[in-house]
Amino acid sequence: YSQRYYEILVKRRGLPVWHQKEEFLQVFKANQTVILVGETGSGKTTQIPQFVLEAINIKTTPDKCKKMMVACTQPRRVAAMSVSRRVAEEMDVTIGEEVGYSIRFEDRSNARTILKYLTDGMLLREAMTDPLLERYKVIIIDEVHERTLATDVLFGLLKQVLINRPDLKLVVMSATLEAEKFQSYFDAPLIKVPGRLHPVEIFYTENPESDYLDAAIQTVVQIHRSETPGDVLVFLTGEEEIEDACRKIMKKVANMGDKVGPVKVMPLYSSLSPAMQQKIFEPAPPPLKEGGPTGRKIVVSTNIAETSLTIDGIVYVVDPGFAKQKVYDPRVHVESLLVSPISKASAHQRLGRAGRTQPGKCFRLYTEKSFQNDLQPQTYPEMLRSNLANMILTLKKMGINDLVHFDFMDAPAPETLMRALEALNYLGAIDDDGNLTKLGEIMSEFPLDPQMSKMLVVSPKFNCSNEILSISAMLSVPNCFVRPKKAQKAADEAKARFGHIDGDHLTLLNVYHAYKQNNEDPLWCYENFINQRVLKAADNVRQQLVRIMARFNLRLCSTNFNSRDYYMNIRKAT
Ligand code: ADP
Ligand code: MG
Repeated sequence: YSQRYYEILVKRRGLPVWHQKEEFLQVFKANQTVILVGETGSGKTTQIPQFVLEAINIKTTPDKCKKMMVACTQPRRVAAMSVSRRVAEEMDVTIGEEVGYSIRFEDRSNARTILKYLTDGMLLREAMTDPLLERYKVIIIDEVHERTLATDVLFGLLKQVLINRPDLKLVVMSATLEAEKFQSYFDAPLIKVPGRLHPVEIFYTENPESDYLDAAIQTVVQIHRSETPGDVLVFLTGEEEIEDACRKIMKKVANMGDKVGPVKVMPLYSSLSPAMQQKIFEPAPPPLKEGGPTGRKIVVSTNIAETSLTIDGIVYVVDPGFAKQKVYDPRVHVESLLVSPISKASAHQRLGRAGRTQPGKCFRLYTEKSFQNDLQPQTYPEMLRSNLANMILTLKKMGINDLVHFDFMDAPAPETLMRALEALNYLGAIDDDGNLTKLGEIMSEFPLDPQMSKMLVVSPKFNCSNEILSISAMLSVPNCFVRPKKAQKAADEAKARFGHIDGDHLTLLNVYHAYKQNNEDPLWCYENFINQRVLKAADNVRQQLVRIMARFNLRLCSTNFNSRDYYMNIRKAT
């Protein structure tokens, strides 16, 4: 093994889960299911899968022996990627070989993979073709306190699978203490890993803040000016806001001159490139000159950093109290991501990030009264605020028709289920008796929203499957339009040139076409305020959708662009 391997090993052995390694292994060996609760940063995600590998004693998967892999699910793509890379490094192997990851539209694993990190949504997809999840010997469901839709559905499924497969083991891991709920649902023993949390002092604002972004920036600058050494973590809600904050913080710190130490300001959000994501683990910059003021690392993140990724060295947390959350209005079938207040449990997690290595401080940019009276105790399970159509399609494909009696941890309202069934019936995915139709079966194969997969399946009839493919791909990736603060007007004008009166879908199609016509030229992207990385991702998604189309003999075709019917046909399909 390399020198680095031993360096990392020393650090690993200091993590709290290592103190309970023997206890974990004993309980793991004696039971089919184990629940493990431990503070964020205690080493659950990176270490437990390695303990499990040791316990079941596998080094590589011989091809003949399929039931040998360990899966560890993550609600977030970023976490699956980042953590698997870290574990590959810890095990001194190349990512994609013994240790891999699988997220929607990207599979980095191969026949030798024995430990696979994957999103909960991907494991659910695998269960569609492999209902007993036969390739796995152990399944670890991580971050269950997030209560994502896919995790909740996996719970119900796995309970069934465990009965049919006595040789399968399940580990359920959570960062919060409401674990008793999971314990009684699974009827399994619970191991608690005590956190080593240092005290964190909480500061509230006197009065409500009118602009939380400004307030957050001011607070960071204030911390840098007057607080003792230690890194800063700021929670904001999305890419644009985060990039904006990073620029402003750097500018303000630069204006302070050499009275203050140097800073490294780093963004963290899901569409960031893996290389940039890795940067948050770099140490703070050294002082500019010997004996000068110490440097600080400032990470500006979405709630990825709340429990999914742990950054060492954070002493100050700035919490404006908001996050982008999925909100569903069942009356009008509309599901959207809205900036909304976080829960008390979330606020508590955020605060915890400040006390991992030494006593810390948490600056809450809301009043104490607002914390007491306005915040919900817990974040609502996603199951209770989602459009369930996609999930129902997945379950029906697995032969689970009786959704009313499915063992949900928190069952959705019957009314919400009915509406989703109606929507699927309207799309032709299920018949009047609630059975999956041929169309529905094909639709369920696409990792897309039912509306979108329907569009794709019917598009050959309207002679526009090429165009619908491009639109679906563009809708599956983050926003491709760049809007730098300094050139907003130019960016808006560039975007308007792609605009089409018939709305967003055709605008996206125009962007994709123009990108291709300009031979994917980076300069063209730059000049037109288009994020090339996003367009590349769209291209990749498109190729995968094409492969699924081919599997079902769905024809690739276009209407002549100069024909009057070009846009008309697309409109008919959408
Ligand atoms: P938990 O799942 O209990 O929150 P983790 O296993 O994610 O804890 O983290 C354990 C330790 O590994 C933390 O100190 C964290 O900072 C470190 N770590 C995780 N990923 C990386 C990485 N990519 N680079 C460096 N350190 C990492
Ligand atoms: Mg974790």
